Amino acid sequence: MIASHRALLDALHEMGAAGLSPGASGNISVRVDDGMIISASGAVAGKATDNDIVFVAEQTTSLIDWPDDQPRPSSEWQMHQALYRSHPHINAVVHCHSTHATALACMRRPIPAFHYMVSVAGGDDIPCCDYALFGSEALSTAVCQTLEHRHACLMANHGQICIADDATRALALAKEVEALAASYLLCLQSGEPVLLSDQQMAEVMNAFSHYGQRLK
Ligand SMILES: [Zn+2]
Repeated sequence: MIASHRALLDALHEMGAAGLSPGASGNISVRVDDGMIISASGAVAGKATDNDIVFVAEQTTSLIDWPDDQPRPSSEWQMHQALYRSHPHINAVVHCHSTHATALACMRRPIPAFHYMVSVAGGDDIPCCDYALFGSEALSTAVCQTLEHRHACLMANHGQICIADDATRALALAKEVEALAASYLLCLQSGEPVLLSDQQMAEVMNAFSHYGQRLK
């Protein structure tokens, strides 16, 4: 099995094991030469096999001519494709309906700077993009716009989505978003958490950038 398939399959299994993708929800893709590979429509992440990985060529614009006897890509394939086009530096996309992130998304409530780890999404909040029908071009546009300056966001009345330079990092980010969403929801049950200031979050971003340099 080629490395990109292995990475995608491993990420799907891990997403399933982590309980981030109830039922057949959630999908992951990895950028490859001339397109992407993405989990198949209806694939159950934790039980995915090589047959649940579908190649979608870069120039694909519709599935009208997709062969009936071949597994079809996830219904969100165009959202993944749009993200690779708008974010040339990324190589993996993880989308899931993890419980706590989805709960916040259904309240259309972004995650503010209530915890320093919110900065893993690339700024001082984890925004929530506008609602649009699943699989629609409007949803692709909303997600691409919201992720212009972030690596992760909530999707109104839907779930969460994360982008990164590989599948392992994108999945780790999705887990972090889910954990932060759970903590934030717990805080909201007790009132409103104290938020970090812009300066405090800037210090966190600065510390992480140095931390990253040391790890290289
Ligand atoms: Zn979805």
